[in-house]
Amino acid sequence: EIREPENESYNSYAPGTPEREELREELDRLKSQEIEIPAIIGGKEVKTDRQQDVVMPHNHSHKLGTVHLCGEEEVEMAIESALEARKQWADMPWQDRAAIYLKAADLITGPYRYTMNASTMLGQSKTPHQSEIEAVGEFADFLRFNAYYLQEIYKDQPYSPDGMWNQMEYRPLEGFVFAVTPFNFTAIAGNLPLAPALCGNVALWKPATSSIYSSYFIMKVLKEAGMPDGVINFLPGSGADVGDPVLESEHLSGLHFTGSTGTFQHLWKSIAKNIEDYNTYPRIVGETGGKDFIFAHESADVDAVVIAAIRAAYEYQGQKCSAASRMYLPESIWPEFREKFLDEVKDVKYGDVEDFTNFMGAVIDQKAFDNITSYIDYVKESDDGEILYGGNYDDSEGYFIEPTLVQAHDPKFKTMEEEIFGPVLTVYVYEDNKFDETLELCDNTSPYALTGAIFAQERYALNKMADYLRQAAGNFYINDKPTAAIVNQQPFGGARKSGTNDKAGSAANLMRWISVRSIKETT
Ligand code: GLU
Repeated sequence: EIREPENESYNSYAPGTPEREELREELDRLKSQEIEIPAIIGGKEVKTDRQQDVVMPHNHSHKLGTVHLCGEEEVEMAIESALEARKQWADMPWQDRAAIYLKAADLITGPYRYTMNASTMLGQSKTPHQSEIEAVGEFADFLRFNAYYLQEIYKDQPYSPDGMWNQMEYRPLEGFVFAVTPFNFTAIAGNLPLAPALCGNVALWKPATSSIYSSYFIMKVLKEAGMPDGVINFLPGSGADVGDPVLESEHLSGLHFTGSTGTFQHLWKSIAKNIEDYNTYPRIVGETGGKDFIFAHESADVDAVVIAAIRAAYEYQGQKCSAASRMYLPESIWPEFREKFLDEVKDVKYGDVEDFTNFMGAVIDQKAFDNITSYIDYVKESDDGEILYGGNYDDSEGYFIEPTLVQAHDPKFKTMEEEIFGPVLTVYVYEDNKFDETLELCDNTSPYALTGAIFAQERYALNKMADYLRQAAGNFYINDKPTAAIVNQQPFGGARKSGTNDKAGSAANLMRWISVRSIKETT
């Protein structure tokens, strides 16, 4: 029996603490060597003839290693290995699978804690705190809570009237699950192949190349925890080279995806195109883009809105799907907000994440940098919006972008509508007596519905906002920032164009990877 776990606690890495020293030592150790990152197929390291440098976003001339990129040949090998491993893994008592997960969580929070944190800091340009809360904390939470949820799911059995015995047999899907993971969270990268695998499935995992460094350490942890060869096959490479051949396999039984809306739609279309060839209908679970809002009423506590805006818009350089990127503020509190925000944001330091005083690092790569700065340039040239703070950028050493505040004069201004995925927050100031109309605007300005936060002291206003914005966010926050969901506390996911809303970190997500056989026996 697995006891209900507690959420992992976080190290502060405050000055003078021993863990700060340990983290520094691990950063130095990792930086002093270049590693080779092969594919891992059936437990074997596979090197290919296509390689790419792995560099640090905040210092792109520093090479951390080389990654070997896969194509059709490696995909075929991986499918074969996965199917070979499948029977034994699926037949293993679920408690034995869960034991591997609990061991992995203990490794991540124990001997591998600094490796997970430091590799995420270096490879993805996260601050020690941002790495700690997810590459250590959230990752361990996913592993422990999913094992607990599985136990609870398996306990649930149907009613058996006299004369019969009814049973539900919880089986994995047939074939394999394809996990496609994003750069922005090490915990998500690990969870997307691991959640289906816990239920007895085997997986092909295509990690994002831009965060391959920490992903590789996940494979090391899993090996040490006792994950059998072939259950999770690690296939670095591009979407076209790896994704397309995977989706052509008749054995595809599921897609577990986090990433951009465009890529998700492309994958879904490819699955639709091949639908007649699959042995089973693939389960499709995706978490995609967002255009997450902060909406304040005239009764809002302005200090709370300022802190929420800065943290939700700029932590991890705005590269969380949950990051706040549009804000609606009433005219009556705007002058106070503006003054307090500008006073606070000037202390938001950005730069090398190894300088622990920085609040922000660099954005992930050149492509992200070019995309985000094109929005900043657009604002600079437009009459419908203006930059109130920030707007500077420099990619000569690392991909650095200043935290930026834009004011939109038109509520449908481009940066109010489109996902930017960077440290750019746009505010629209509404007339207090247009509260209802502005709520409607907030609901229909973006096609997404991932996260959102409302701020008010008046209960009637909170009720009205919650009601108007019922469909606008899968994760809805009242008087708090819209980021940093915690496993088992705020199951995460959104609807509309933000995904299939199969809440990560909940039993509902695991059910997507389970196929039930209902059995009736007459007694
Ligand atoms: N779960 C994260 C949060 O609540 C966001 C996940 C994502 O970016 O996909 O901030």
